[in-house]
Amino acid sequence: MSRNNIFRSSYPEVPVPAIDVPSFVLHSPDFAARGDQPAYIDAVTGETISFRGLRLRAEAFAAGLQRTLAMPKWGVVAVYSPNTIHYPMLVFGTLIAGCTISGANPTYTADELAYQLSDSGASVLVVAAEFVANGRAAARKAGLDEKRIFVLAPQAVDGLESVFTLLRSDGPLRPVKFTADELANRAAYLCYSSGTTGRSKGVMTTHRNIVANIAQVLAIFKVAPDSTWIGVLPFYHIYGLVISLHCAPFKGVPVVVMPKFDLERLLSAIERYKITEMFIVPPIILALAKAPIVSKYNLKSLRALVSGAAPLGSELADEAAKRLNVIVTQAYGLTETSPLLHGCPYDKVVSGSIGVLAPNVEARLVNPDTEKDCGHNEPGELWVRGPNIMKGYHNNKKATDESIDTEGFFHTGDIAVVNENGYFFIVDRLKELIKYKGLQVPPAELEAKLLANPKIADAAVIGTPDERAGELPLAYVVLQPGVKLTEKEIQEYIAKQVAPHKQLRGGVVFIDAIPKAASGKILRRQLRLDDAERRKKA
Ligand code: AMP
Repeated sequence: MSRNNIFRSSYPEVPVPAIDVPSFVLHSPDFAARGDQPAYIDAVTGETISFRGLRLRAEAFAAGLQRTLAMPKWGVVAVYSPNTIHYPMLVFGTLIAGCTISGANPTYTADELAYQLSDSGASVLVVAAEFVANGRAAARKAGLDEKRIFVLAPQAVDGLESVFTLLRSDGPLRPVKFTADELANRAAYLCYSSGTTGRSKGVMTTHRNIVANIAQVLAIFKVAPDSTWIGVLPFYHIYGLVISLHCAPFKGVPVVVMPKFDLERLLSAIERYKITEMFIVPPIILALAKAPIVSKYNLKSLRALVSGAAPLGSELADEAAKRLNVIVTQAYGLTETSPLLHGCPYDKVVSGSIGVLAPNVEARLVNPDTEKDCGHNEPGELWVRGPNIMKGYHNNKKATDESIDTEGFFHTGDIAVVNENGYFFIVDRLKELIKYKGLQVPPAELEAKLLANPKIADAAVIGTPDERAGELPLAYVVLQPGVKLTEKEIQEYIAKQVAPHKQLRGGVVFIDAIPKAASGKILRRQLRLDDAERRKKA
């Protein structure tokens, strides 16, 4: 196939207005029409925030950032919290003040959070009441003044002021104007992703990226006026962030918020609030397909489940669809693509497929060995171009240049095929990234920690397949001559330093040498084959 065989979306182009996200979302016709109806409902306490209330609080929080904290335009606000009905106020308030929002995984250790605070340059931290100790330790390490840490609770906790005090600032909001250049080029969001290689990096997502992606998502996944969604995916991750905090309010869809996934709570929330669609990840689909307890609940309100963030097998999708009598479909994308690139529309589901290209997205499939473009049904690395591609990695030109080429195509690191009908299938992953329950585990980070252990001479980490989690991090380790270290000791050594999803649940394999190319690059494919052999024998 010749160079530049570009696949184009079959959807008509969607307009991407030059507007900031809060003006687009919080002033949309559907948002305005909902007025005092609940926009966010706490699944546990039943507490709600209305559409109007969200807008007013976000504006008040923005005024507090400007007046009380003197936040400059593009100053960074970090949030370290599980999902709550107050999270949207923090995101929109930050954006209204002209600042940048960076959500952190609430299960991060203090060190992991400190890295994100320093790397993003955050100058305000909002922390959940239960994570005050970690937040404080991380801020200290990152050199963030304790007076700029606020707790997401009605009252002060452990000497940290409540974030709600910022809503009572002295003066009114100073409206911020954005130029077209700022909307298209400045980071309004910094979510963290390792991309194809290395450790986590701040992904520069612009106002324009998100405005585009809201339109792209809604072109594929049509929203009925009686919809109610569930906010169970983490709001710090781009998938939960765009669906629950942007698409939902833009279309006036109420969201029932859960702090984390718990099957029984989810089932009772579906029954109680008559949830109609759920944007979820494969492990939740698995639980819905298999867990006996599911039959105890009335889930008749459910119409569709959309699975994203990790591969979903067609058998599992079909099983869940049959059991619940719902449409089970997929979406695909990356943090770097804001996130949606593909989706299977509800009325044209192809089981096992990630769907068709979203509007305004162009794609190439490029053979990684020959660099030649592929045609239909030939596997190649997926390269994409469109208004939802990030600006780049924060303060990391090298990584940006390695992932976005001179023609503007972003290289996803996923291997895909496309059939004659324009349906794409992910068939392999070229990049080193591991996904545990849809969450990123960057191998480079675990390898650096293993190598920091004086008893370890060399190490490589790969993902080993697992039915429940998708993949489990598995370490190949070369010990220093004459030393002893058990699998359990290595697992504990890592567990102490990382968030739970990065633990070496796949185990540790001791070998004599890590297979490497002449360039020194770890031959991960070889390790994956070795792992497959090992599992066959076991
Ligand atoms: P993240 O940036 O955390 O959203 O991770 C993006 C990566 O998740 C992609 O590059 C894929 O490897 C994987 N991914 C996302 N959605 C899907 C899907 N529907 N099927 C297979 N892999 C997916």
